Amino acid sequence: MSNSSCSSEDDYSASEYSDVESILSDEEEDIEDYKKGGYHPVCIGDRFDNGRYIIVRKLGWGHFSTVWLALDILTDTHVALKIVKSADRYTESALEEINLLECVKKTNPHSRGYQYVAQLLSHFWHTGPNGKHACMTFEVLGESLLSLMKRYHYKGIPQPIVKRISKQVLQGLDYLHRECGIVHTDLKPENVLVWIPNIEEYLKKETAEVLTAIKQRDDASSSRKNISITHTTTTGRPQPKEHKPWLTETEANGLTKSQKKRLKKKKKKMMAEAQKKASAIDEEDELGKLTDKIDNLSISNVETATTVDGISQDDDSRTGKTKVIPSSTLDIASILLPRDIDDEDERMKVFDKIIVKIADLGNACWMDGDYTHVIQTRQYRSPEVIVGCKWTNEADMWSMACMVFELLTGEFLFDPRAGSKYNKDDDHLAQMLELLRTVPKILTSAGELSRDFFDRTGKLKHIKKLRYRRLRDVLHDTFLMPPEEADAISAFLLPMLEMDMTKRASPSQMLESPWLQDIP
Ligand code: ADP
Ligand code: MG
Repeated sequence: MSNSSCSSEDDYSASEYSDVESILSDEEEDIEDYKKGGYHPVCIGDRFDNGRYIIVRKLGWGHFSTVWLALDILTDTHVALKIVKSADRYTESALEEINLLECVKKTNPHSRGYQYVAQLLSHFWHTGPNGKHACMTFEVLGESLLSLMKRYHYKGIPQPIVKRISKQVLQGLDYLHRECGIVHTDLKPENVLVWIPNIEEYLKKETAEVLTAIKQRDDASSSRKNISITHTTTTGRPQPKEHKPWLTETEANGLTKSQKKRLKKKKKKMMAEAQKKASAIDEEDELGKLTDKIDNLSISNVETATTVDGISQDDDSRTGKTKVIPSSTLDIASILLPRDIDDEDERMKVFDKIIVKIADLGNACWMDGDYTHVIQTRQYRSPEVIVGCKWTNEADMWSMACMVFELLTGEFLFDPRAGSKYNKDDDHLAQMLELLRTVPKILTSAGELSRDFFDRTGKLKHIKKLRYRRLRDVLHDTFLMPPEEADAISAFLLPMLEMDMTKRASPSQMLESPWLQDIP
């Protein structure tokens, strides 16, 4: 077993979420990551960038950030606000993400692929209890392709929809690679998001109530601040005469004039304090109720794609608690269809006209670098990356093929496991060989780790028995596709699954593929 290849996976930041469990889980971000260098604690109604953005609800999270629906009061439109963890390494990669996104935004807005990449709107810094966080705003998008697969119960998304998605993602990749010179490096269903037409119109209606509640709370809170100033700086409200618990009958008798005067002063002070306490409790209660209302409103009327019981711990500057707020992606079916359509098949027709965008350039890099470090989430990782060869934009095409297979079948194309005599990388290469049979010399000998996996004859060192199978047979036998369909899909995917990255098809070549030609 090769130690170096084991650790290489651990070294890769995205590998934190490369396991099946984490990809498919319904969990939210870890509360433990709300610490110095970690996530910024956010409450509904919080304001960012000098009050420009008001947080309305949570859209999602990643291992580097949390993402929130916010109203931009400058443009009166909603945005997705991504708040990155504050430790140096996250900030550095956020700054690189901003550089890359600015390039994507400026290079060629007229390109056919431009519209299929999520565009950056603005960026700024925010300092909070856990540090200084890079923040980015984007156009609001809907669910990811992972949620779409869930809707189809992991049995595969209908082919015409997958064709549309494939064409758009290829156009987006063509723009990233050919025009911007950018490698995405983490293409997978989670990072492709559905675009929703007229989303702003819908959001205006959806968020009106919560925004009103936030305003009420803010007004109540600012008037409370004014009252407390009143307590400390003015003579105060009239004192109640009827109830004087601090003075018993006997104490009040037999006092000198000056003693009575001092007692009166003391009484007045105590009374003011008691009043201050009582009104603070009332206002606290009122504010608490409004906050609860806001929390409830911010997650109602939307399909909660990923939920978690509210966890309250730790410290937050305003509420004294850090809450893990449940994400709620925008449910495209509910947004675009009248509420009374409850026929599931009818509802799913909304996806026939799907438009998607490639998101999360958090791991992306420029194409001209000499990279050999580990990239890509495990199941979408290309062979050149595993063996430590120099990789570049062709690595995205391997991920593309893995993703399209998964969209069509609901299952991973490659899902390696470690065994007692081999590690995940050995198994991954074995699974690739079983499907693609041959491996070029460049992979067996030229990679930094090639010798860990292959012997001098180019055979796998740790796994001897391979069960060869053709991709079209897998599609036909395992996924019960008719023979012509299995052949057509196999012919579409194989040019992207070329083991030799120098021979792998590019996005523009793939856009000419016969499988995509019946897409308008
Ligand atoms: P990370 O770099 O931390 O992985 P991502 O950019 O992938 O962050 O965003 C995390 C999640 O936030 C996404 O999986 C998605 O659910 C949600 N999200 C990101 N961008 C948007 C957007 N523009 N509109 C709606 N939701 C978004
Ligand atoms: Mg992500």
